[in-house]
Amino acid sequence: MAPSLSPIRSHHVAIIGAGAAGLVAARELRREGHSVVVFERQKQVGGTWIYTDHTEPDPLSVDPTRSVVHSSVYGSLRTNLPRECMGYRDFPFVDRSGVSESRDPRRIPSHGEVLAYLQDFAKEFAVEEMVRFETSVLKVAPAADEGTGKWRIESTANEKRDRRDEIYDAVVVCNGHYIEPRLAEIPGISSWPGKEMHSHNYRVPEPFKDQVVVLIGNSASADDISRDIARVAKEVHVAGRSNAADTFIKRSGYSNLWMHSMIERVHEDGSVLFQNGKMISVDVIMHCTGYKYHFPFLETNGSVTVDDNRVGPLYKDVFPPAFAPWLSFVGIPWKVVPFPMFELQSKWIAGVLSGRIPLPSKEDMMKDIKTLYSTLEAEGIAKRYTHQMGITQFEYSNWLASQCGCPETEEWRKEMYLTTGMRKRAYPETYRDEWDDHRLVSQAYQDFSLYK
Ligand code: FAD
Repeated sequence: MAPSLSPIRSHHVAIIGAGAAGLVAARELRREGHSVVVFERQKQVGGTWIYTDHTEPDPLSVDPTRSVVHSSVYGSLRTNLPRECMGYRDFPFVDRSGVSESRDPRRIPSHGEVLAYLQDFAKEFAVEEMVRFETSVLKVAPAADEGTGKWRIESTANEKRDRRDEIYDAVVVCNGHYIEPRLAEIPGISSWPGKEMHSHNYRVPEPFKDQVVVLIGNSASADDISRDIARVAKEVHVAGRSNAADTFIKRSGYSNLWMHSMIERVHEDGSVLFQNGKMISVDVIMHCTGYKYHFPFLETNGSVTVDDNRVGPLYKDVFPPAFAPWLSFVGIPWKVVPFPMFELQSKWIAGVLSGRIPLPSKEDMMKDIKTLYSTLEAEGIAKRYTHQMGITQFEYSNWLASQCGCPETEEWRKEMYLTTGMRKRAYPETYRDEWDDHRLVSQAYQDFSLYK
């Protein structure tokens, strides 16, 4: 990292959430010399990787007064990225089965192994001593009476229910974005008699034994869950909005799993009609349709909004110009390799807050955001895809790295991400257990030897 030329200013910073984003943000901010408090409403670190059998009482998770179950992880979940690629850069996600028998040695491990890795990270960098567990943030708002920049945070310890009101110099929002379900619109649904649910509340296939289930969605969860349920269900039908109208394909290797175009409408007699003309009688419709960004605690008087799933305005997906650098977000981009990106976003925030890394003026940040919005519009990309990155993530991460004086994303990581994506599409059944990127794995382990 480049030597600092200006004196480092230390600030009192609140981080909301102790998932993969909040943990690395806490480490980076403390490394930079800031004093940090992490608010975490659960009992332990790990965020969405803390698997629980519990689900929300409302299977669609639309009731705003419901008690939220944070995790969206299902029992059979294995990661969709190899561990080498997925881990933080300076704390590699290596096989630790030699240390404990309870660890999962596989390259593409189960959810429990990711949680164990995040717990290892928290231990290694003594993050837990900064965390206030079982403490929910209820409100984050500019502390007008305290002068510009400061933030008032209202929180409550879950047990005691007494509210605490504190002032911080800066807030870093790391609350995750797989909690607030997005639902598909289905003509006729209000009088359809079957059961509807969101994949947020899916855990195990057994409740679907001998049932006819329709899943809506084209992404990883629809793919995984449909195969999981097909083991016990009578029939599984997957409806995808981006599938051509005449799509009707039987999944190879299955006698009871079909891909369809989107649902045309549903009827009072329990039937579901697809755009391809097929009509079937259905017990359950499961929305595997993703999530909405949601910051129920954040009060900015309209300066930061979520509009059709665009969080904005945000400079480089991190700083809202109106409040920069005193309010920031880690973890907004999706279709990315999250952990190493969180690490770079956190380093950037830490360095900007201390005054070591300069930010452009508010006007220039707004100009940059407007250019991005115009480019997306010109390319016909809908607002809700503003934060989707895919291949562009590497350019973004490299830009962050340049701001922080860090090396760019390793070539092997990029290639591994792309290769895994291709293999996943070509061999969805086997890509987690068979691979041919041994060259990339050995390059990764050469790099990891730097961090032993
Ligand atoms: P989270 O892990 O959701 O953590 C947010 C934390 O904030 C939680 O602990 C929560 O309790 C806390 N919080 C929220 N609101 C408040 C509040 N008001 N007060 C106090 N605390 C609060 N990524 C991969 O790299 N590989 C994968 O294979 C992969 N598979 C996935 C599968 C599923 C089903 C899902 C849902 C996600 C998957 N991801 C995967 C992405 C995953 O979300 C990221 O890897 C990462 O864990 C997100 O971390 P986060 O810290 O942003 O959010």
